[in-house]
Amino acid sequence: MQFDNATDKTLSYKLKTFLLTNRNGLNIEILNYGGIISKILIPDRDGNFKDIVLGFNSPEAYFGEHPYFGALIGRFANRIADGKFVLDNQTYTLVKNNGSNHLHGGTIGFDKVFWDAESFENENESGVVLKYVANDMEEGYPGNLTVCVTYSLTQDNTLKVAYHATTDKKTPINLTQHSYFNLSGDFSSKILDHELTLNADEFLELNENQIPTGKYLEVANSPFDFRTPKPIGKDIDKNNTQLAIGKGYDHCWVLKKDNKLAKIAEVYHPKSGRVLEVLTSEPGVQLYTANFLDNTISAKTGGTYGARSGFCLETQHYPDSPNQTHFPTTLLGPGHTFTSETWFRFSTKNN
Ligand code: BGC
Repeated sequence: MQFDNATDKTLSYKLKTFLLTNRNGLNIEILNYGGIISKILIPDRDGNFKDIVLGFNSPEAYFGEHPYFGALIGRFANRIADGKFVLDNQTYTLVKNNGSNHLHGGTIGFDKVFWDAESFENENESGVVLKYVANDMEEGYPGNLTVCVTYSLTQDNTLKVAYHATTDKKTPINLTQHSYFNLSGDFSSKILDHELTLNADEFLELNENQIPTGKYLEVANSPFDFRTPKPIGKDIDKNNTQLAIGKGYDHCWVLKKDNKLAKIAEVYHPKSGRVLEVLTSEPGVQLYTANFLDNTISAKTGGTYGARSGFCLETQHYPDSPNQTHFPTTLLGPGHTFTSETWFRFSTKNN
């Protein structure tokens, strides 16, 4: 990691960490930089606690280059084709930071800014409210956008992430949480043995630039079918055009579009017994199996982060929505409020 010391000092001075805890001993560490979740300490079925998210041991390390470990993503999560979109007859040009695409909000997205942060505590939950105001034309997007994200850890081992935003000009918005999980807590092991259930009948077909073609594909009879529990590794290396494009799973699954919070996924790690359930009000979820991690970043537990050492379940609207009018809209206008909620619920079970 390289950054000059002067900058580093200023940044370190601003950096704050917040620890969310509950009666069961869960520990979740949040940074005001990028709204990053830097640690999730949960027990296995025998009560042994381990940190189950990829990242760094030192909070300052997140100032360096990394693939969005644990971060909040915005103003627009995922890809926008050719880094541009048209809104009310005006073309907006965004940075192309992923080949010909715009990815995860640009060069200095919501993952690389300091958020105002205030912690709270009551008998049911321990949390932190993060606030960030993105300026009109910041990273090329129209409108001053005020975003609030509340993280709260409940006594029943649920991490709730509630998003809220308002704007003074019409703008696309797509927010997500980019934690990489490895429920073994051993980052030298791959997540291929984790059993995933994903309640989705369809996913979005991608072109060779990882942009949706606009076509919804059925998961039935394909490696993308997780409607009943299946190890993530079972079909990941199958000969399949879509898997080849993503070098594994890096696709958006289509969820029910009624904006109501519902359980959409469960991941079970048989060895440790750890279970992660995901609930969301969003219409999509990007399953990313860390295909592009290439052992260049040191892992928290020693060694390096390699491909498939983690998985992300990024709840969100569909990639490239600003250019694909048949997708659920991502436009937010003045006088309206954007709200969205995702829960990560932790538990254990026996084989
Ligand atoms: C994307 C991947 C990308 C990664 C960046 C994920 O959300 O789907 O394609 O490489 O973020 O770390």
